Amino acid sequence: ASRFADVDVAPPIEVFALIAQYNEDTFPNKVNLSVGAYRTEEGKPWVLPVVRTVEAQMATDPTLNHEYLPVAGLPDFRAAAVKLLLGEDNPALVENRVEGIQALGGTGALRLAADFLKIVKKCDNVIMSSPTWENHRMIFKNCGFGNIKQHRYWNAETKGLDLDGMLEDIKAMPDESVVLLHACAHNPTGVDPTQEQWKKIADVCEQKKAYVLMDIAYQGFTSGDIEKDSWAVRYFVNRGFELFASQSFSKNFGLYNERIGNLCIVTKDTESKMRVKSQIEIIVRTTWSNPPNYGARIVASVLNNPALYSEWKEHIKTMSDRIRLMRDQLFQKLKMLGTPGKWDHIIHQQGMFSYTGLNPTQVEHLVKKYHIYLLKSGRINMCGLTTSNMDYVANAIHDAVT
Ligand code: PLP
Repeated sequence: ASRFADVDVAPPIEVFALIAQYNEDTFPNKVNLSVGAYRTEEGKPWVLPVVRTVEAQMATDPTLNHEYLPVAGLPDFRAAAVKLLLGEDNPALVENRVEGIQALGGTGALRLAADFLKIVKKCDNVIMSSPTWENHRMIFKNCGFGNIKQHRYWNAETKGLDLDGMLEDIKAMPDESVVLLHACAHNPTGVDPTQEQWKKIADVCEQKKAYVLMDIAYQGFTSGDIEKDSWAVRYFVNRGFELFASQSFSKNFGLYNERIGNLCIVTKDTESKMRVKSQIEIIVRTTWSNPPNYGARIVASVLNNPALYSEWKEHIKTMSDRIRLMRDQLFQKLKMLGTPGKWDHIIHQQGMFSYTGLNPTQVEHLVKKYHIYLLKSGRINMCGLTTSNMDYVANAIHDAVT
């Protein structure tokens, strides 16, 4: 008998299981609202034209080779990434107390931060929103955090933010806990704090001497505006917080399978920055040794070239505009049908996802009867919708609810 016969089969990863189910489904009008990736009006993945341009240049550039990158990643990429996040003339950058470490996607950046906080700073307590991106909990668990808590966030009644609950739950944590925050486009709810609310969150983090980790996986993609989407991170930095921010370029560059992300480290002084960087380099060395070049080269080439950069900004506007259009259309359609309930949260929520408020029975109805695939939590990816499947989906939701 195998010595692994006693290994428990891990539960399936819901979103990947749903995609597999969707792919196997032969129903012609099936709709995939589960996937966490952008889709065009034709329901297709989109390679950004500016990415195509850079790829073509790279294919014939004789100066490029396949040598190892530095452990911390491609210098031009790291510098461009932190600049994008904080703004070129951010005092922290000018004072040379910001570092970027290239990572395998936003996930890799989260993992580096969690490993560092556990291994080097001996943190054991972390708090994150309820609900949150399902991977957050697992990352901290596998990094060995013993006390993983979730704070109130989604108010099912108002379909908005439970700020008081959130602040109270963070206050109840031990001092110097890790506080994981979604900088914009909260996944899965699409509910973001207002600037006034962010100030209160920062107050509590300050009181609790929290280690702040901001997850920013949708910069630019959320509102179409780089600065608006990084407001919360910049606000914390300008207030003097030392923090980590995990940046993903999966969504805003459409580089999902290239695994390109960055861990931004902000400290109070240059020396501490170097100390932290040196420890994180050891974590990188023992995890993936050094990161891949391709995605980093693309992102750096775009962000460091003014013409390509403005082209890219147009692309993120195209994507965020399309998502907002789908929000409007779904809302109007449900209103027209007279579907019971208030549906304006669909237009107020931010980012790619909407937390519809559909319950598990209604979700099951949509999957079984209509072949519309969405997460059990009721989260839908707005860009799984197109003008051609909009009526079908709205009618199905109407049927599920009534
Ligand atoms: N954080 C959040 C909130 C996300 O939604 C995602 C992706 O879905 C990520 C991080 C990680 O993205 P990446 O694919 O770059 O690892």
